[in-house]
Amino acid sequence: MSDVRVARLLERAANGERLTYEEGLTVYREASLHDLGAAAHRRRSVLHPGPTVSYVIDTTINYTNICNVHCSFCAFFRPEGHPEGYTMSPEEVLTRVAWAVEQGATQIMIQGGVNPDLPLGYYVDLFREIGRRFPEADIHSLSTSEICGIAKREQMSVRDVLVTLREAGLKSLPGAGAEILVERVRKRISARKIDDDRWLEVMRIAQQLGMPTTATMMFGSIETDAERITHFDVLRSLQDETNGFLAFIPWYYVPHKTPLRGREASGIDYLRVIAMSRLYLDNIPHIQASWLTPGLKLGQLALLFGADDMGGTILEERVVTLAGSTNRATRADLERAIRQAGYQPAVRDTYFRLRDYPLATTA
Ligand code: SF4
Repeated sequence: MSDVRVARLLERAANGERLTYEEGLTVYREASLHDLGAAAHRRRSVLHPGPTVSYVIDTTINYTNICNVHCSFCAFFRPEGHPEGYTMSPEEVLTRVAWAVEQGATQIMIQGGVNPDLPLGYYVDLFREIGRRFPEADIHSLSTSEICGIAKREQMSVRDVLVTLREAGLKSLPGAGAEILVERVRKRISARKIDDDRWLEVMRIAQQLGMPTTATMMFGSIETDAERITHFDVLRSLQDETNGFLAFIPWYYVPHKTPLRGREASGIDYLRVIAMSRLYLDNIPHIQASWLTPGLKLGQLALLFGADDMGGTILEERVVTLAGSTNRATRADLERAIRQAGYQPAVRDTYFRLRDYPLATTA
């Protein structure tokens, strides 16, 4: 494949033309980091012209670490009956929500293990109470695996579980648990997790019910370049059908304290994935600079490689932290990083609508 052909493909993608799977793989493998980043930044600048980079004030409450899925890349979960297993009472969760709302949080992500002891009623009561006490907060919670776990426990369809949760106040779903949407990879790193088709099906149902979602990708474990492009491809196909994904959030696997181990992805790898996602996912509006695993400095660079959003403050989080990530950022840190990259920070809500919310810092 000649450099001229790669340059032509990049030019096409930067202008918004769709890349086929083979073209995407060629570009991903052969384009230089600079060329890939420049094309992605051009595309991002057309999709999101103007000086703004958004972020959301959010919290992640990991309400239970008991999980019957046992993913090999996860240092957070404890199997049923383990002495270190915990489940927060609804009141404990509500105390954390109250604290986060006091800090300005508008997005509440409640996410944890697939705990077979928790009935649907636990979530219904909790979400209703959050809605009653904190009507300004958006409940953006539960992974596809948790939804399927509840459906199995209650012997209900996923659709009925989602309808019930939506009525209780669940407004949108995070894109967690996608890892790599390729059967070979999932069998190796999370054999007991729902398969790739099931993940897509839960997202399809949620989106058809009017609940927007995000999509994630956990890269850097055992997947090949081709499998990364397959992951993009299946997301793009579903988005063609539903238009329900608000954003794509790639993050790399932190191997330090997990059974899977391996080597952490490099900064170059991270930037290439960000840039490639912007070029390939031509129908997903936002690409998020997921700073939690690569750190704020690389997250800042992602803003020049195709990302248009800085993610969230993640006031409280345990899953990635327990895997060995030590990154933390305040609102002021996020705003400074955005300004240093040449943009104006702005606070958004879960749906990427900019909110008239005072910034933590002045220019
Ligand atoms: S990643 Fe989620 S589903 Fe997998 S073991 Fe950890 S908590 Fe359970």
